[in-house]
Amino acid sequence: PARGTPLLSVQGAVKRFGGLVAVNDVSFDVQAGEIVGLIGPNGAGKSTMFNLLTRTAQMTAGRVQFLGQDISTMQQRDVARLGLARTFQHVKLRPHMSLLDNVALGAHARAGAGVLRAGLRLDRQEERQILQEAQRQLDRIGLGDRAHEMAGALPLGTQRILEIARALAADPVLLVLDEPAAGLRRKEKMALGDLLRKLRDEGVTILIVEHDMDFVMKLVDRLVVMNFGAKLVEGVPAAVRADERVQAAYLGSTV
Ligand code: ADP
Ligand code: MG
Repeated sequence: PARGTPLLSVQGAVKRFGGLVAVNDVSFDVQAGEIVGLIGPNGAGKSTMFNLLTRTAQMTAGRVQFLGQDISTMQQRDVARLGLARTFQHVKLRPHMSLLDNVALGAHARAGAGVLRAGLRLDRQEERQILQEAQRQLDRIGLGDRAHEMAGALPLGTQRILEIARALAADPVLLVLDEPAAGLRRKEKMALGDLLRKLRDEGVTILIVEHDMDFVMKLVDRLVVMNFGAKLVEGVPAAVRADERVQAAYLGSTV
């Protein structure tokens, strides 16, 4: 999609857990070619919003469109096949598998889905293509020469980057990341930020749910701030940082 085209459109999203409204009438868009940050203090509803977008949780009301299609009630795997890829807050790599095989699993998520549905097995040539693609993604993120190491032996920051490579192997249009900087050292965060900017420049659109204000402020083109389930403010980082409502929301929290 051309730069600036709306890829994702969240319209009046609501999520209730019994009497608690975790997401309260939230609307925002993500356009092709940008990095958007979804931030807010603890309990603001970020993870719940992430789960609604990735179809891990059922919306109570509202709508999410992706590439012009209503994905509000779609199966998670169909949303993935449309080109919406996600990572998990807690790394879900296969620690005893090689980097290459971990990334190849991501390629299966999209390329393999149709094949599996048709009840066929991947033939050797398809398998080889998937491994080639996995190697290409490892090269892209600078881990190409470590393809045959075990994933579990990598430092946490490198595992996070590997998880992004796995998501990229499915050739996504939109990459949605849940707190990718959590638990990383300063240098690891910098490496992650550099990678995400590089991917953005290569045309990958990114929505990042993040707790770490400093990390996200330096990274994103635009921010959506949530507080108590609702959208508080939306804008470019400098404007959001200067906004009194945002400062008050973070001050009163346990961030
Ligand atoms: P954030 O990610 O911004 O810290 P969450 O989306 O995790 O916030 O949580 C928003 C609110 O929804 C919190 O009050 C939380 O306790 C509540 N919540 C989240 N998930 C559930 C759930 N599965 N059941 C009940 N309440 C939940
Ligand atoms: Mg959360």
